Amino acid sequence: MEILIYGAGEKGKLALTTIKCDYEGNYSIVGFIDKSKHGECLGYPIFKLEEVEDFNGVILIALLDFQEAQAVWKVLKKRGYTDIFWFQDKKTVLKYEDFFVEQCRNCMDWGDSILPQVEMHIIDSCNLNCRGCSHFSPIFSDTLPDLKARISDVKKLKEKITTVLKFYILGGEPFLNPEINDYICNIRSVFPYTQLYIVTNGLLIENLPKEVLQCVKDNQVCISISEYKPTRKKIGKIRLILDEFQILYEIRGFSQKEKFYLPLTINEQSKYPKTCISNKCVTIWNGKIARCPQLMYISHFNTYFNTNLPEDGVMDLDNCAEGQKLLHNLQKEVPLCNYCIENEIEWSTCGKTAKLEDFAVMD
Ligand code: SF4
Ligand code: SF4
Repeated sequence: MEILIYGAGEKGKLALTTIKCDYEGNYSIVGFIDKSKHGECLGYPIFKLEEVEDFNGVILIALLDFQEAQAVWKVLKKRGYTDIFWFQDKKTVLKYEDFFVEQCRNCMDWGDSILPQVEMHIIDSCNLNCRGCSHFSPIFSDTLPDLKARISDVKKLKEKITTVLKFYILGGEPFLNPEINDYICNIRSVFPYTQLYIVTNGLLIENLPKEVLQCVKDNQVCISISEYKPTRKKIGKIRLILDEFQILYEIRGFSQKEKFYLPLTINEQSKYPKTCISNKCVTIWNGKIARCPQLMYISHFNTYFNTNLPEDGVMDLDNCAEGQKLLHNLQKEVPLCNYCIENEIEWSTCGKTAKLEDFAVMD
């Protein structure tokens, strides 16, 4: 397969070396396209777009700036190119099989309103119950959500925007939901080119039915493992299983997960510095969309702990704006932002009953 890399800058060079070093022999690189650079890059010719009009291989957009990548995609589409991919440089554990699956995003469904990422619980509760969980999973019951209603939310989202780059299936602990295969297949059919992730603490992977692992593999879902202390003890076995099924995965390593945060303060005038640990983690849940999980689940938090933190900013998927306007609204600051603080703690679990102090300070 012939490839032209759009962008002879840092990312373009990285794309070239990745293909040559990790996927040697599978692809033939023709050269680069660049609007301002000329001559050669790493021994390959640099073309102007007008010079490669008859090219019918794959064009790989390798630009650092996503807005720029989108603009280039529009130009390429207008000129009639169909095989266009975006080089993402994913941090997954590679299988060295298919560069386009492991490292790229098909641009086939790109359009005017691209949501970089979205998250959805397929179960609200978790088997680990970490203090400071920003999804407040330790205070949710084990009740399974209605599959049809959750998939209806996914479809409503698809009606509002052209596509999503990354879709995170999570919870709680998503592998607690026995219907996980139905979720994967349904989400994959609504977003055929989106990178799907399952975010998990990994503790259930060794006991997963083969059908689940096969479904993950067949639908090109990447498993994103948060390596907490209990996960660490099993990480070797987890790797073996995922390797056996040739599943893509990434590990959010122990060094990142030793520390945790209590995400909230009850007092707007708190002495703790304000911070946002969930920027751009757009969340859909029960017919609603919000800019982050803390905001989405704060009404449950308020009810559970009898607090009064601000809930404004959650939108109905039925009535919210669409396209660019929706993307803009999802970036607006909300009153709850004034209660999100930087407060590092050692990772630990909540104990039998989660308390308000497990999530918030009351200074
Ligand atoms: S493993 Fe993740 S979802 Fe579960 S309680 Fe911990 S932070 Fe929350
Ligand atoms: S409420 Fe605001 S500051 Fe807090 S996590 Fe959400 S977006 Fe970030």
